[in-house]
Amino acid sequence: MPADPSAHGSGETPLRRAADASRGASPSPKARGSGTSAVEVRRSSRRRRTVSAYREGDRTVVLIPARMSEAEEQRWVTVMLDKLAAQESKRMLGDRELAERAGRLSEQFLGGRARPASVRWVTNQNTRWGSCTPAEGSIRLSHRLQGMPEYVIDYVLLHELAHLLVPGHGPEFWRLLESYPRTERARGYLEGVVAADRLPHLPAARRE
Ligand SMILES: [Zn+2]
Repeated sequence: MPADPSAHGSGETPLRRAADASRGASPSPKARGSGTSAVEVRRSSRRRRTVSAYREGDRTVVLIPARMSEAEEQRWVTVMLDKLAAQESKRMLGDRELAERAGRLSEQFLGGRARPASVRWVTNQNTRWGSCTPAEGSIRLSHRLQGMPEYVIDYVLLHELAHLLVPGHGPEFWRLLESYPRTERARGYLEGVVAADRLPHLPAARRE
């Protein structure tokens, strides 16, 4: 029976502080806050005219040619952020799909006993992956889960559903999650996301 190593309040799937200033030293020369994520621009002398961007954990990396001017860089960063956001919103589950998913998970793993009144995404939750208020039957998931594998989202959903039945993280709680086959894998994935965020990032290639 896995004991939860990170003791935290009931009804919470822990994350960690999103923008913990004390965890200093990101060597990125271009880290700037945009909501909860940072943008890192990497210049490459091998890159002639192509610009690309991708998410790396919490941050967004934009690759641009070394010779690009500051003004062009600004413009391209905006373009690429919009493009990524558009791609992601297409594959993101809406609140209604999230509620349907919660219903299926409850049926499949909790005998349908957990019946949430509401399930929704929230963007103001940066220290927890999910939370719930059993008295209201409400479940909230951090938008930071969006884009993660579905089995991870399902785990967090199921975790919060289980809290509607059992507060805290005692054996009775974890017993409820035992039938979900990917509990350990999902927890490992989330721990990996948190750990990766603590690693020092390589300095961007700024030299010509
Ligand atoms: Zn919990």
